Amino acid sequence: MEKKILVQSITHLNHNVVHLVTQKPSGYTYTPGQATELSLARPNWKAEKRPFTFTSLPDSEALEFVIKSYPDHKGVTEQVPSIEPGDELLIEDAWGAIEYKGPGVFIAGGAGATPFIAIFRDLAQKGEIKGNKFLFANKKERDIFYKDHFENWLDKDFITILSEEKTEAHAHGRIDRDFLASHVTNLDQYFYVCGPPEMTDNIIELLAQMGVEKSKIITEDMD
Ligand SMILES: Cc1cc2nc3c(=O)[nH]c(=O)nc-3n(C[C@H](O)[C@H](O)[C@H](O)COP(=O)(O)OP(=O)(O)OC[C@H]3O[C@@H](n4cnc5c(N)ncnc54)[C@H](O)[C@@H]3O)c2cc1C
Repeated sequence: MEKKILVQSITHLNHNVVHLVTQKPSGYTYTPGQATELSLARPNWKAEKRPFTFTSLPDSEALEFVIKSYPDHKGVTEQVPSIEPGDELLIEDAWGAIEYKGPGVFIAGGAGATPFIAIFRDLAQKGEIKGNKFLFANKKERDIFYKDHFENWLDKDFITILSEEKTEAHAHGRIDRDFLASHVTNLDQYFYVCGPPEMTDNIIELLAQMGVEKSKIITEDMD
């Protein structure tokens, strides 16, 4: 059911990612990793609903979102950086396929990291994050968002790779079989994969070739 919420704050996390804090409708529920269809209650934009993931925890008094903007799409995310406190948003019920099932390897490209934020936050709060690893792929160093949080939660089990930049601090290239093999020894654990469809398809195929059972792969396309 559609609900109207007010934006409480907007923070720019990097050149194209913002963090939104909004009101939470009373009784609204979701699980870490889930998303909702969201639109801006501006003239001409109300009907333009797009999926975005809650980065807050279900028991939080506010809702939080981390949203990457794509100005070249000329769509909703181009509007997002101009959101101001007091603006109205419309959200639907929560939905989504990503859910924590047990320790494993989380693999994301760009905005694909968003469902993992609430999951890691939840695990860290419960003291159960040990045993999980996060491989985060981006184009350039400036694209990495939430780095401090991921490092705090996962320490050395937070691993970054950049496809369009060579640096000391990050691996270089795409997530391929060699990269996976160098970071994953146990194939009998969960693999959580989220990113652009081409990337998720490719990684799921690589994991299957390496011998990971289909039932151990939890995935969602960010399209
Ligand atoms: C379950 C789920 C959860 C998600 N959660 C998040 C989240 O928490 N944070 C986040 O940042 N993102 C998230 N996403 C991705 C997010 O939904 C998209 O980035 C968003 O829908 C893009 O909306 P848009 O209107 O800006 O552009 P789109 O709706 O993608 O595009 C608008 C138009 O632009 C054109 N277009 C499309 N692709 C391109 C391109 N590559 N180049 C040029 N033009 C193009 C097309 O004509 C399209 O109709 C999630 C996606 C899913 C499926």
